Amino acid sequence: MKWALIGASDIAATQILPALRQLGHEPVVVVGSDGERAARYAIRNGVGYGTTSIEEALGAGVDAVYVSTTNERHAAGVHAAVGAGCHVLCEKPLAPSLDQARAMVDAAAGAGVVMATNHHLRNSPVIRTLRGLVADGALGRVLGVRVAHTNLLPERLRGWRLGSEAGAGVVLDLTVHDVDTVRFVTGMEVLEVAAIGVAQGMSGLDAVAVAGRLGGVDRADATLHLHDAFTTPHARTAFEVFGTTASALATDAMSQTPDGEVVLRRADREELVDVGERENLYVRGLRAFAEAVAGHGDPPCTGEDGVRSLAVALAVNESLLTGRRVSLGITGDIA
Ligand code: NDP
Repeated sequence: MKWALIGASDIAATQILPALRQLGHEPVVVVGSDGERAARYAIRNGVGYGTTSIEEALGAGVDAVYVSTTNERHAAGVHAAVGAGCHVLCEKPLAPSLDQARAMVDAAAGAGVVMATNHHLRNSPVIRTLRGLVADGALGRVLGVRVAHTNLLPERLRGWRLGSEAGAGVVLDLTVHDVDTVRFVTGMEVLEVAAIGVAQGMSGLDAVAVAGRLGGVDRADATLHLHDAFTTPHARTAFEVFGTTASALATDAMSQTPDGEVVLRRADREELVDVGERENLYVRGLRAFAEAVAGHGDPPCTGEDGVRSLAVALAVNESLLTGRRVSLGITGDIA
């Protein structure tokens, strides 16, 4: 598959391009806003060439486009790609606003192309193991979920993420991943959130605690706790699901790597669960995307999933701003 990359980004260089190479896909062109930097980026990262012209890139015979500019620029890249009839993989969060994100998904549907959101954690063997345990009924009914997405943001990423512009901040960076992963593991939607944020010195609000309610059609409600931080140097990330017959704890779960363990705990014993093959998350995601393009199933995270997970992250931001609980409909609309 031939790709254009819109965005000369860190994530494209560190994860996506190595994964494309491993799969034998061809990164034909990268689009950046500075021509010299885009050209240097192309040479350094093994992309055919760099340009500042999206039109030129989309005219280069590419099948698919990966959009990884800063969040407020995703929409422009996706609309251009879809307008040229290309399939598109867009980074999360899809956009800083729900209207923009919905318009992107609608445009892709109207053009009949595949649109996916790069919530990479859906490709984690540890996360997929948790989802399997829930789906198989190994935990009984889900009573609650607790996520710790607690990192020290690497120095090289302390740029636009820490600003106050639309699209920046810990919620649109980390919480949106948690929400998508919770939806993926439990099959439930987030129905209500209340959030507290603190400023720990890196940016405005750089750590948040979210309490929420999970539910779904014919599903009893469950509790949700999220702890997301850019500021935590020594924590392990974790994803824990509490059920009526067992609980499952995944450690080092909220990661870009396929590491981590899953422990299943029942009343009288604990066991380590085999998570299967520890494949690179981005390789798995891109392979599944290519299969969807070839007409075999959906990508791991669709555009619509990206919209729903964004809706919850925006509700968390609204709660931080207003100090109030925010309710969401089962379809992700703010109620
Ligand atoms: P970067 O800051 O590396 O890149 C974003 C944009 O900033 C680039 O497209 C580029 O603009 C500009 N830029 C980057 N470095 C420089 C520089 N040295 N000089 C001038 N401009 C520069 O962003 P990330 O890779 O961290 O994130 C990009 C997107 O990917 C975001 O949407 C983010 O949320 C998402 N992301 C997803 C991850 C995942 O695992 N799913 C992980 C990390 C990020 P231009 O291209 O116009 O030149």
